[in-house]
Amino acid sequence: MSRLDLFIARMVSQRACLNHAAALTADISGPVFELGLGNGRTYHHMCEIMPKEDIYVFERAIASHPDSTPPDDQVLLGDVFETLPLALTRFGATARLIHADLGGHNAQKNDEFARRVSPLIEPLLADGGLMVSSDRMYFETLTQIALPQDAIEGRCFIYQR
Ligand code: SAM
Repeated sequence: MSRLDLFIARMVSQRACLNHAAALTADISGPVFELGLGNGRTYHHMCEIMPKEDIYVFERAIASHPDSTPPDDQVLLGDVFETLPLALTRFGATARLIHADLGGHNAQKNDEFARRVSPLIEPLLADGGLMVSSDRMYFETLTQIALPQDAIEGRCFIYQR
């Protein structure tokens, strides 16, 4: 696969998995978390498909497109290793859907990061809640579920409490 193919596969999979996860969790009340705002494309999509939800964004430095910038009171600014534990104190195990796209271009570093951040994400999910990630995660109590038809294996992962 070329880098262009890989990029397209990631984008298509993110959209398919977010649509699928939003539909599967429609009956769960609770906040939605976006980990890694970046340009804000996935955040913008989440706002489109879950217009009534409070979507909280975890990001160390906001640099998103103006159309995709969350309100200040829905940003947890800083390193996720500091803000995720704060979120657990604030929200408890209530999240309907958590999406993480925190990785960069180095697959090995992304995997190491995923191992370290997984235990901080795991306790935030409500019963039946879903976690969508661009990287394989390392959870003890969540179950990996099947991807929707349009998603590409290995480019996105979905986990359920
Ligand atoms: N999904 C986004 C989009 O559609 O535009 C792209 C996200 S981008 C690949 C990853 C983002 O994660 C970057 O903005 C980076 O600053 C953020 N990030 C990476 N590591 C982080 C950390 N430890 N704490 C907070 N934010 C982090």
